[in-house]
This record gives sequence, structure tokens and C-alpha cells, in this order.
Amino acid sequence: MRSLSVKVGTIAPSATIEISNKAKKMERAGIDIISLSIGEPDFDTPQHIKDACIDAIRRGETHYAPSNGIPELLSAISDKISRENRFPSRPDQVIVTPGAKQAIYEGMEAVLNPGDEVILLTPAWVSYEPCAQMAGGRVIKHSIDEKTFQLDDSLMQRINARTKMIVINSPSNPTGAVFNRESLKLVADLCTDHDLYAMSDDIYEKMIYGKEHHSLASIGDMAERTITINGFSKAYAMTGWRLGYAVAPLPIIREMSKVQQHSVSQATTFAMWGAVAALNGDQFCVEMMRQEFDRRRNYIIAELNRMGYETAPADGAFYAFIRVAGDDMEIATKWLEEAHVAVTPGTAFYAPGWIRLSYATSMEKLKEAMVRIQRIG
Ligand code: PMP
Repeated sequence: MRSLSVKVGTIAPSATIEISNKAKKMERAGIDIISLSIGEPDFDTPQHIKDACIDAIRRGETHYAPSNGIPELLSAISDKISRENRFPSRPDQVIVTPGAKQAIYEGMEAVLNPGDEVILLTPAWVSYEPCAQMAGGRVIKHSIDEKTFQLDDSLMQRINARTKMIVINSPSNPTGAVFNRESLKLVADLCTDHDLYAMSDDIYEKMIYGKEHHSLASIGDMAERTITINGFSKAYAMTGWRLGYAVAPLPIIREMSKVQQHSVSQATTFAMWGAVAALNGDQFCVEMMRQEFDRRRNYIIAELNRMGYETAPADGAFYAFIRVAGDDMEIATKWLEEAHVAVTPGTAFYAPGWIRLSYATSMEKLKEAMVRIQRIG
């Protein structure tokens, strides 16, 4: 047989999915695993969102829709962006995708040419690099200061004539850190001075504790060169609905739209009606979930610190990022095999020596996990 694609061959499978598969296998074998490895809210999708989707199915909204999304949702998103994220956007600058991940991929495809460099701030979530690679780009990693988790001038050293884009993610998966305005301003200045595009993944914007979220596109004229990524998975506990979106300048959206039309066509029609209800409905459900995450965050960080673990500033998202003494892969494996607690080694996020623990699970399970981790030492 002839060899398969060299491009795809160089792409690593998702490490977060690998660990959770291993945990699931142990679970199937009857072992009581506490899974703190996956980035998924444990809450059910709010009822009014489900009802809107069910109504849509009953009405017969079961056919193809416009590829970029139903007009009602494009308007709801552009209104939300102007109102909350404070940069102007029109409905034709929005594309709804089957998950934010697809928006990231389409955004990379729209901007990158073979050999173009993309600056990735590490620790970073697992899928940015593969998406950039699949689009022909080359990722240049820049490690963020592991005390402040903010940016400084050293970022400038990564820029050369081939640099095309900077990717940021605040609040961050995996660190939980939130960029302050100075960090964002630094990215904005670099993009303007060197004519770069930016991708700003705002998917955790609602999971924020005592800090304020600023969208990169709201700074200066960054809306002209930023692809803002967001979605429904985290804020509305809608991971399985597969609904995300991008907001970007029209020329970029047009290119993303071509990738979408010739691959996935569109996001699911009736699911989009649920998303309209999510954005236009009462936001109390989002705040309830945020408060519960905050309660768990306070518990888990205090408990980890009490056990002697240093943690990154957990200002956002739903992850505790824990510094460990020794090999993070070995420690994560030990926690899984001996304490039956599944977490993700930092190496998956280009951060050896760290472990990511998702606190998007019940307080009861978190408490039991802490007991188990302490027991094995
Ligand atoms: N961005 C980040 C930082 C994420 O953590 C995730 C989900 N793990 C996504 C994007 C993708 O979300 P989805 O495809 O479910 O919308």
C-alpha cells in the first residue's frame, strides 16, 4: 500500500482525549474513576434552550440552512458581540460552526499559507497547533512567565518576516489565567506594528472570578485584524450540541465560509435555534453555573495549596493548574492508576512539570478526589 498523508502523519492525536479514553477503559473494567481530565461543564443544558431546539424540530427546522448560520443567530451573535465584547460587528461578519474548534480550523485555513508562522503562547490548549499545521502553518511557541501568566516584551523576539498570526486564549485553558489589559495591549501593538492577524479564543469569557474579560478585538483597531472565537459549549453547557462561532473582518469570513461550505456545510439547523434562545434568553443560568464553578474553585485551590501544591492564578475557566515536583506524565499516571483520579499532564499543553485538573464536576467528587490524592502522597 502507498504511504498515507505526510501532513496528517505529523499531527499528534489529542492528548486530552487519550487520557480520558484510558480512564474510561478503567471505568468499564469496573474501577471507580473520578474524572477531572475533561473540559466539560457537568451541568445539564438549561431547559429553555432545549425547549427552543425541540420546538424547532417540531416546526420542521430539519433541513439545510444558510451555510454561515440562520439569520436569527447571526443577528443575536453580532448584537451580543457589540453589547458585551465592545467591538462593532455586523451579522455578515459572523460564521456559526459545528463547535468552536471548527471555527479555529477554518480561521487558520483562511489566513495561512504554507510556511507562515503562528505564534502560540504556551501553556496552550491542544488543538491550536494541529489546526495551524493542517492549514499549512508552522507554530512558534512562546512560553509565558510561569509566575504571573502575563505577557512581556520578550514576545517581540518571536516575530520575523514569516510571522502571520498570534493566537491568544483568555481565560486560558489550561492555566485558568486571565490576560490583563497590558498583556492584550502588547499583543495589539505587535499586531499593528508588524501587520499580523490575531486569533482570540474567548470561549471561557463567562467563567471568570473577580477579574474582567476584555476581548482583544475591542482594543484599538484590532477588530480589523482579529478572528474572535467563541461558542456555546462552556457558557451554556452545550458541548454535545457542537456549536461555535467566529467573528472577523468580512474578507476573512468569506474565506472561512468557503472552507465550511465544502466540508461540513453548516452547523445543525435545529441546534442553532437552541443557540438563539441561549443568547436572547435570561442569562441567569450562566451566572448560576459561574457561581458554582467559583465555589468549587475556592475549595480546590485552597485544598491543593494546603497539601503544598503551587497553583497558577485560577482567575478563569474551570481548571486548576498545579505545579508538580517530577515528571508530570508519571504523576498523572500514578494519580490515575493508584488514586483512580484522572487528570491531564501539563506536557499535553507544552507545560511539563504541571498538571491540569478540571473542577467542572460535583463538589462531592472533588472532595473525594482530594482525599484520594492526599492518601497516595
Ligand atoms: N477553545 C478552547 C480553549 C477549549 O478549551 C475548547 C474545548 N475544550 C474549544 C475551544 C472548543 O470548544 P467546542 O468545539 O466544543 O466549541
